[in-house]
Amino acid sequence: MVIHWFRRDLRLDDNAALYHALSQHENVQCIFIFDKNILDKLADKDDARVTFIYNQLMNIQNRLAEIGSDLKIYYGHPDEIWQNIIQELKPSAVFTNKDYEPYAKERDQKIAELLASNDIIFNAYKDHVIFEEDEITKDDGDPYVVFTPYSRKWKSKLAETHIASYENKKYFNHFIKTNSSPKISLEEMGFEENSMDFPSITTQVGIIKNYGEKRNFPGIEGTSRLSVHFRFGTISIREKVRRGKSLSEKWLNELIWRDFYSQILYHFPHVKNGSFRSKYDAISWKNSKDHFDAWCQGKTGYGLVDAGMRELNATGFMHNRVRMVVASFLTKHLLIDWRWGEAYFARKLLDFDLASNNGGWQWASGSGVDAAPYFRIFNPYTQIQKFDKDHTYIKKWVPEWGTNQYVTEIVNHKEARELCLKTYKEALDNV
Ligand SMILES: Cc1cc2nc3c(=O)[nH]c(=O)nc-3n(C[C@H](O)[C@H](O)[C@H](O)COP(=O)(O)OP(=O)(O)OC[C@H]3O[C@@H](n4cnc5c(N)ncnc54)[C@H](O)[C@@H]3O)c2cc1C
Repeated sequence: MVIHWFRRDLRLDDNAALYHALSQHENVQCIFIFDKNILDKLADKDDARVTFIYNQLMNIQNRLAEIGSDLKIYYGHPDEIWQNIIQELKPSAVFTNKDYEPYAKERDQKIAELLASNDIIFNAYKDHVIFEEDEITKDDGDPYVVFTPYSRKWKSKLAETHIASYENKKYFNHFIKTNSSPKISLEEMGFEENSMDFPSITTQVGIIKNYGEKRNFPGIEGTSRLSVHFRFGTISIREKVRRGKSLSEKWLNELIWRDFYSQILYHFPHVKNGSFRSKYDAISWKNSKDHFDAWCQGKTGYGLVDAGMRELNATGFMHNRVRMVVASFLTKHLLIDWRWGEAYFARKLLDFDLASNNGGWQWASGSGVDAAPYFRIFNPYTQIQKFDKDHTYIKKWVPEWGTNQYVTEIVNHKEARELCLKTYKEALDNV
């Protein structure tokens, strides 16, 4: 028998590693490991992402049960769990899809060695992105650090084979025939169910078609809201790229940003802890705890910033335009280290993804790849004029906005802007 190990690819259809397992072997056992190394770091016991994963695993389990098979779910440290699995199941090979985050790469390296020492083959496939690692580089082999030429090369290299679906269904009779095993509950892992509504897995064709005109306005349903599904692999990137190609080049570009940031993290893992442009590490952040708390709670007195933070706290989602505004406000108006904001997003976003989140934060603070120059500071008033003119979005999340119940601005825009320019300039001139 062989094992398919699910991680951020939580679906049975059009799944690369699962396809290879099923098409090459007749006894495929599916497993998932709730990783204590990750779960122990989560601050909130009702973390919605744990519920999301759990629900998705139950969907997979139900489909497997209909076929007469089973998903085994483990909970613990992966290296210890794998020692047990090797004894319990005695697989001849393990199939999985690659995860490019630094922790995952290190974990997989160790598991691959453990498996090899037991004569078990570890097969890892590309599934999460269209182009991985160094598949798209400059002609001299160096990685791209600017998006436009990267996306041009990406598009010129894209062939039908990169976006063809894996027809897993053809081989569904190759899942191992076995009874359903007992399943660990969320409570047994120390978590509570979160009753939050998760974004739907289906998107209206109209949203993608009209994306170019509507994507920047947080008050309307102008974006796909598929990010949590891309994050956990509940949808296939190949299918969505086919959609983007036929319906909207602008939307396709967003999917390319996702690949772009993934390869940045792969080539420049130092971005996980520090600025991509190291001279930005010299900025002397003010890091006011009170200002940070006001920002987290959506009580800065700036309507669009507060609406965004309240949307994030209530739903685990924030519109991209507003993510840019709140991130710029934190790093530039409040002079708070982008890593604080990055960590808060990591705790709250359902779609949290290290590569895209880090890329977005470093872009906003000016320290990242292809970032706007530091002296371009978003004006929180004109952003409202341009993108939420009739205040639909602000009023939805900050009903008291514009009344005397609303908090006063915690910093003065003009003064904050000047202080930011001075602080950035001092740091960057001195290195
Ligand atoms: C400070 C900051 C932090 C961010 N953190 C994350 C994060 O943790 N996880 C995340 O998936 N995205 C992140 N983004 C990117 C973007 O805001 C979200 O992907 C998008 O808002 C999700 O909404 P949607 O699914 O409706 O996207 P759509 O606009 O419909 O786009 C389709 C898909 O393309 C991808 N995408 C879109 N924009 C970007 C982008 N700028 N960079 C990378 N991928 C993109 C996403 O997978 C998204 O679901 C961040 C952006 C900023 C400015």
